[in-house]
Amino acid sequence: MNNYICKTCGTQFKESSYSPDSCPICRDERQYVGLNGQSWITLKRLKQEGYNNLWKQEAPGLIGIGISPSFAIGQRALLIQTQKGNVLWDCIPFMDEETIEKVKSLGGLNAIAISHPHFYSSMVEWAHVFDCPIYLHEADRQWVMRPNEKIVFWSGNELKLNSNVVLLRLGGHFEGSAVLHWKEGANGKGSLLTGDTIYVVADRQWASFMYSYPNLIPLSTEKIKTLIRRLGDYEFENLYAAWFDAVIQKDARGRVLKSAERYIKAIR
Ligand SMILES: [Zn+2]
Ligand SMILES: [Zn+2]
Repeated sequence: MNNYICKTCGTQFKESSYSPDSCPICRDERQYVGLNGQSWITLKRLKQEGYNNLWKQEAPGLIGIGISPSFAIGQRALLIQTQKGNVLWDCIPFMDEETIEKVKSLGGLNAIAISHPHFYSSMVEWAHVFDCPIYLHEADRQWVMRPNEKIVFWSGNELKLNSNVVLLRLGGHFEGSAVLHWKEGANGKGSLLTGDTIYVVADRQWASFMYSYPNLIPLSTEKIKTLIRRLGDYEFENLYAAWFDAVIQKDARGRVLKSAERYIKAIR
């Protein structure tokens, strides 16, 4: 029995004797099936093939962790250190002994929170090793490929994880697409961690939003307006999207608001 991992999206599936017939996440139009069809791997095999995790201190109290060489979607997770314990924002397919030791040396994990199904990846492995809950929005429940008792489905548009960390369900890309607001980030000016609910574009000055990134299907004006409304009054100086270097360093809230205006103007 194995927990197979889809090589295109990096999602780990529930235990099975044979690899799954297909990956529902890749068959959805927000992902894609590769030219050679679906293929599968296991965590053990990833280790044998020499993958490892890269670490990057993004800011004080904020550490990026991503697989190397790139695998599947290639996102990096973010470990936030707060006085109330560590939170892992988003997740990645790979983990090994070195990763476990390193996270333990940083104080382990109190919680894992994930923006949307493309980054569910090997979340259950992480939750078991660090014995912590995984917070997922209930609107995306159907996309969980490895159900587990560590998963906590939350509802509504806001969930406070501790006095410094709140999850905001902005929607858009997925019904339950969420971001994380970290009050202590950017020296107390606030940081927003967005997965690809809000995407940082090439010049790192603007953001964008999509229903499907691989298939380039935009969101409607209404969805963008909802997303901005649900951001509420939360202040943030910088913004970290899902990949190393996908960061807006200054006036990120202002840049996001301008980006939404530009987007709506373009699709009108
Ligand atoms: Zn897949
Ligand atoms: Zn996505």
